[in-house]
Amino acid sequence: MGAIALEVADLSAGYGPVRALRQVSLEVPEGAVVTVLGGNGAGKSTLLRAISRTLAFHGGAVVSGSVRFGDRSLDGLPPDRVVAAGVCQVPEGRQVFARMTVEDNLRAGALGGTRDRTARAAALKRVHELFPVLAERAAQPAGLLSGGEQQMLAVGRALMAAPKLLLLDEPSLGLAPLMAARIADTIREINAQGTAVLLVEQNAALALRLASRAYVLEVGEVTLSGPAAELAASDEVRRRYLGVV
Ligand code: ATP
Repeated sequence: MGAIALEVADLSAGYGPVRALRQVSLEVPEGAVVTVLGGNGAGKSTLLRAISRTLAFHGGAVVSGSVRFGDRSLDGLPPDRVVAAGVCQVPEGRQVFARMTVEDNLRAGALGGTRDRTARAAALKRVHELFPVLAERAAQPAGLLSGGEQQMLAVGRALMAAPKLLLLDEPSLGLAPLMAARIADTIREINAQGTAVLLVEQNAALALRLASRAYVLEVGEVTLSGPAAELAASDEVRRRYLGVV
C-alpha cells in the first residue's frame, strides 16, 4: 500500500446543537478502497460532507479537527477547491439533474475540475467506457434513467472531475441486488484504474468485499477499525452489520 492519501484527524462536526461526529480519525492510503459502516444516523453522510466541505449546504459545520489530502490541508477550503485538489463526492440519493440530459449532467461534473478540453474529453471517454448506457442515452433527460442508471450517472459525473479520491455515499441504496453488484464491480474497476475510494455503506457485506480497510461508526464515533477481512470475521460486526446470529 502506498502513502496516506486522506488523513482525517479528530474531526468533530454537527448541525447547530446536534453533534453528529465526535473526534473521528481515519486514513485512506493511496489507491485503496476504505469503507465506513454504520446504521441510520451514525454520521456517515456527515463525515463525507465534512471532508468535501459541503456540510454548510446542509446547515452544518466542522467544529474541530483537520482533514489533509496528500500534502495539502483541506481545512477551510470551499467545496470547488476540494474538487480541484482531487477529492470528489457522490452524494446520497444520487441527485442528478432530472430535466437535464445525461450528457449535460456529465458536463456539469467537469466544471468542478479541469477546464482543459483534452482532459475533459478523456474523462468523458473513460465514463462512457465504464458505463456504456450513459453514451447510449446521452441525449435523454436524466430523470428517465432507472435508479441504477442514475447512480451510474452520479458516479460518472464525479469522475468527470478526474478525482484521485472518490467519496461514495451509499451507492447501493434502493438498488436491486443485481444492480448493486454491478455498481460494486464498477467501483472495483474505477479503483483498479488508480482512484482511491472512501465508501460509506449500510450494505456491510458488499462494502467489506470491496474494501481493504474498514471503520465502524456508531453515534458519531469510530468504535472499531481494522483490515476489512478482520472486521468481516469479528462476531460483533457479523451480528450487528452482517445479520449473522
Ligand atoms: P443515514 O444512513 O440515515 O443517512 P448517516 O450515518 O449518514 O445516516 P447522518 O446523515 O450523517 O447519518 O446523520 C448523523 C446525525 O446528524 C443524525 O442524528 C441526523 O439526524 C443528524 N443530521 C443529519 N443531517 C442533518 C441536517 N441537515 N440537519 C440537522 N441534523 C442533521
